[in-house]
Amino acid sequence: MADALLGPAEIRELAARLGVAPTKKLGQNFLHDPNTIRRIVAAAGLRADDVVLEVGPGLGSLTLGLLGAAAHVHAVEIDPVLAAALPGTVAERADPARLSVHLDDALKVAADRFTPAPTMLVANLPYNVAVPVVLHLLATLPTLRGGLVMVQKEVADRLVAGPGSKVYGVPSVKLAWYSEARAAGRVPPAVFWPVPNVDSGLVAFTRRDPVADVPRAAVFQVVDAAFAQRRKTLRAALAGWAGGAAQAEEILVAAGISPQARGESLTVEQFAAVAAAAAERGLGGRLSPSGRQHEEVNP
Ligand code: SAM
Repeated sequence: MADALLGPAEIRELAARLGVAPTKKLGQNFLHDPNTIRRIVAAAGLRADDVVLEVGPGLGSLTLGLLGAAAHVHAVEIDPVLAAALPGTVAERADPARLSVHLDDALKVAADRFTPAPTMLVANLPYNVAVPVVLHLLATLPTLRGGLVMVQKEVADRLVAGPGSKVYGVPSVKLAWYSEARAAGRVPPAVFWPVPNVDSGLVAFTRRDPVADVPRAAVFQVVDAAFAQRRKTLRAALAGWAGGAAQAEEILVAAGISPQARGESLTVEQFAAVAAAAAERGLGGRLSPSGRQHEEVNP
């Protein structure tokens, strides 16, 4: 497998041949270090029968590594030049029959695009849309049993944070709704071309059993409202959503949570309990203007 991977010379040559000038807008930082590829593939814990969904294959560095470890790879790429070139790159180094390239926006893809159904998400994600891409795919593809993604280190820290941490927030709770997530290592800027300004981090996640028998959208509304005003008590932060501070207090007490607590101290199970208590009382569900700030990390 090692020989099939792309190093710095191959990446430059490929980019020059295709006339690719990496853009910040599409988060194009290409991996050119075979050791990092091997590390990502190993950390993903793939089984030989896994079907991998890779978002943003770019020039194909990680795609080639994934094809060495899984049964099939679906590569979703938004850049038409990169999507068109990928089959040729792969055909020179691996079995192209096990690759499906989809020219599409990963924020919008639907499950019926993929046969066979993906079981693992493994990607060096475009950093500006990393969190919404992960949440969209976990919501859309119930066949995903887990994954490993590379994101900005700061985002990785937020995704894996637990209650009480300074960086615990909307991405942490929403990822916890779907999965158990953990930090899986740091990656230095030098392994990318062009070299980014920040370190990257790996996040591994495994899908969990449902947190509670409450609709996801109802729970996520509570999460959005709680963190839109994270320094306020939940009684105050949830007032808009609940229809008043008194209603918020009633819901919180019914859920067994102190109205004086802050959202940053609640587990995902507690957020679900708040949503359930509100539904039982026919309360909640009002979207406050500040709650909408978090739509970038919906669904
Ligand atoms: N996987 C390659 C690698 O590791 O070298 C490239 C990773 S690069 C950080 C991100 C890739 O995602 C780019 O190829 C970019 O064109 C693509 N991309 C950006 N936004 C996307 C989107 N919304 N849907 C699918 N692909 C996207």
